[in-house]
Amino acid sequence: MRTITGSCRCAQVQITVRGEPKRIGICHCTDCRQESGSAFTFFGVWPAAKFEHLGETAGFRGRQFCPTCGSRLFSADDGEAEIKLGILAEAPTKLTPTYELWIKRRERWLRPVEGAEQYQEDRK
Ligand SMILES: [Zn+2]
Ligand SMILES: [Zn+2]
Repeated sequence: MRTITGSCRCAQVQITVRGEPKRIGICHCTDCRQESGSAFTFFGVWPAAKFEHLGETAGFRGRQFCPTCGSRLFSADDGEAEIKLGILAEAPTKLTPTYELWIKRRERWLRPVEGAEQYQEDRK
């Protein structure tokens, strides 16, 4: 089974996911823009049972980040874990977005990802 690893910028927090993601997304919403300080977030969703992390995190409204370096890391509940893919060790990743959210807030210089489902707001 494929194992993918990642960490925050200071390496205090390490993450591992196993197997294939359920879906891969890009989101242009206000929360994601503010959280990342960038134009969008890039994330993958795995079953929660396939996700592990080591190291102390801090959270705001369910979104976990490193309290030392501030890297944005993941959100997880009993069912699913959503991992920010910018923290993966290998880049480029072999992961391509399957859907795109809040495209009405997408920067005009960004093009839709070819083949990805497009949603004006959240996924229905
Ligand atoms: Zn860190
Ligand atoms: Zn968002």
